[in-house]
Amino acid sequence: MRSVHHAFGKRDVVQGIDLDVAPGEVVCLLGPSGCGKTTLLRIAAGLEVLQQGRVALNGGDIAAPHARHVPPEKRNVGLAFQESALFPHLTVLENVTFGLKHEPPKERRLRALALLEQLGMDGYADVYPHMLSGGQQQRVALARALAPAPQLMLLDEPFSSLDARLRDRIRDDTLHVLKKVGAATLLVTHDPEEAMFMADRIALMCDGRIVQTGTPRELYCAPCDPFVVTFFGEVN
Ligand code: ATP
Repeated sequence: MRSVHHAFGKRDVVQGIDLDVAPGEVVCLLGPSGCGKTTLLRIAAGLEVLQQGRVALNGGDIAAPHARHVPPEKRNVGLAFQESALFPHLTVLENVTFGLKHEPPKERRLRALALLEQLGMDGYADVYPHMLSGGQQQRVALARALAPAPQLMLLDEPFSSLDARLRDRIRDDTLHVLKKVGAATLLVTHDPEEAMFMADRIALMCDGRIVQTGTPRELYCAPCDPFVVTFFGEVN
């Protein structure tokens, strides 16, 4: 992303963001509520039309001034947002294989089953979403997003509805799968502890701007601004 700006009406919510994510890297967009994290993710996904700046994937512009808007389904991105709804009339397996239309059925099924297993959802392939807890549905949504092996994974608070004990395990499993798939990942969280655990690099945001980008250690040990100190003061 280069010089990305976004406003809702007269309110500037993203103000000049430059950000790179490498293949296989997990970058956490961290910051307080309302600082523009989700908006930035939605811009990367193509769910918001770019107003200013440039977004490129794999060297090619996917959003740029005067360029055609590339819709989300043509961007080779995997999305798992807080509100990621599963298709209620499809089984867990059918939900996960939904985006794999171009593959032979056997491969599709095997890939989906392997992902479900890696995310602790083996044994649930044939049930329907309403038979699952919120946390289980979230895991299926993650598997569905990862199934097409996207170049870019966009995750918005993907562990928010998991209880603390389960959350640690699913974070661990998700990180493992993300690294295996080799996707460039942008993960939104307001939880410094989650970012410390998940991120190769953290981009700490405040009021639509990135205050500091660096490894968790860099932000924790060498904060560049009092805001960073305050924010990480909550991590023990
Ligand atoms: P949270 O952690 O609470 O989800 P966030 O950092 O992800 O917050 P955004 O959801 O990007 O923040 O919102 C940034 C600001 O933009 C907020 O003040 C929000 O009210 C506003 N906003 C977001 N979407 C819209 C919209 N569609 N129309 C108008 N204002 C919006």
